[in-house]
Amino acid sequence: MPSIDPSLGRLVRRELEQHGVEVVMAVTAGDIGRRDGALVVRGDGGFVRTTDLVLVGGGVEPNSDLARAAGITTGVHGAIRVDRRMRTNLPGVLAAGDCVETWHRILQKPTYLPLGTTAHKQGRIAGETAVGGEREFQGSLGTQVVKVFSLAVARTGLRDDEARRAGFEPLTVEATPWHHKVYYPGAHPLHMRITGDRTTGRLLGAQIVGHWQAEVAKRIDVFATALFRGMTVDELNDLDLSYTPPVGAPWDAVQEAAQTWVSAARLTPLS
Ligand SMILES: Cc1cc2nc3c(=O)[nH]c(=O)nc-3n(C[C@H](O)[C@H](O)[C@H](O)COP(=O)(O)OP(=O)(O)OC[C@H]3O[C@@H](n4cnc5c(N)ncnc54)[C@H](O)[C@@H]3O)c2cc1C
Repeated sequence: MPSIDPSLGRLVRRELEQHGVEVVMAVTAGDIGRRDGALVVRGDGGFVRTTDLVLVGGGVEPNSDLARAAGITTGVHGAIRVDRRMRTNLPGVLAAGDCVETWHRILQKPTYLPLGTTAHKQGRIAGETAVGGEREFQGSLGTQVVKVFSLAVARTGLRDDEARRAGFEPLTVEATPWHHKVYYPGAHPLHMRITGDRTTGRLLGAQIVGHWQAEVAKRIDVFATALFRGMTVDELNDLDLSYTPPVGAPWDAVQEAAQTWVSAARLTPLS
């Protein structure tokens, strides 16, 4: 699962395996054939599996050929180049959604991050531009959440390696707070990773894996809001977040993880 770090990815793998899913990695599927009414998938290293159904997840490619043929400039990943008001290089031609580049709020440059959340905002901006408005797309953080059996897997912002490539000096710390007071029945652990910049203390990203009813999305959205405003990791501790024992803790899980990061940052010398 390339959108989260391997230590959290292992939790997802365990969840899949506990539900009878065989996880095979580092095998390139080369051929899908038929035998006795079933499908046979063959890959390198002698990999063979027989199955009833093959789903191919091929990733997302912007279908920008028509735009390019019309003289519209494309950029990252072949996506249509737009400015922050969703204008292409052709006067009067606006574009939004999976076919366009997405302005990244932390990287401050165009990326390709096709998401429904982004498409809706960009579409609205394009509409405003079309009727003479001046609102600008404020940028994506790549915030996303997916349910995998009983887990929710979420991320926002940059992971450690992405932050380092972008010129930050990242420190990534893992914490596993409970999603609500542990004495109240039904508490689940939230496996969280926070990435912050060692030099400035600025929050750069977060990842969470936890039970899908453990308010994972609420927590990632707190991180996303903090990222949007360029807050430091330590400033998360000043947020006035809600609490009652069945749903949270006086220090919310987000703040417990932030405190783990702040302690680690104090103990880890700058490289
Ligand atoms: C299975 C799946 C699950 C997803 N889950 C999530 C999620 O949980 N969260 C999230 O944020 N994003 C999710 N996404 C991504 C999200 O759906 C897309 O990012 C979003 O729909 C992109 O919007 P869009 O308007 O750019 O394109 P689309 O929604 O694909 O709309 C394009 C429209 O253009 C029409 N069209 C295409 N060609 C032509 C033509 N030549 N003439 C006329 N019409 C045409 C199509 O029929 C379609 O109606 C998911 C995507 C998929 C496929």
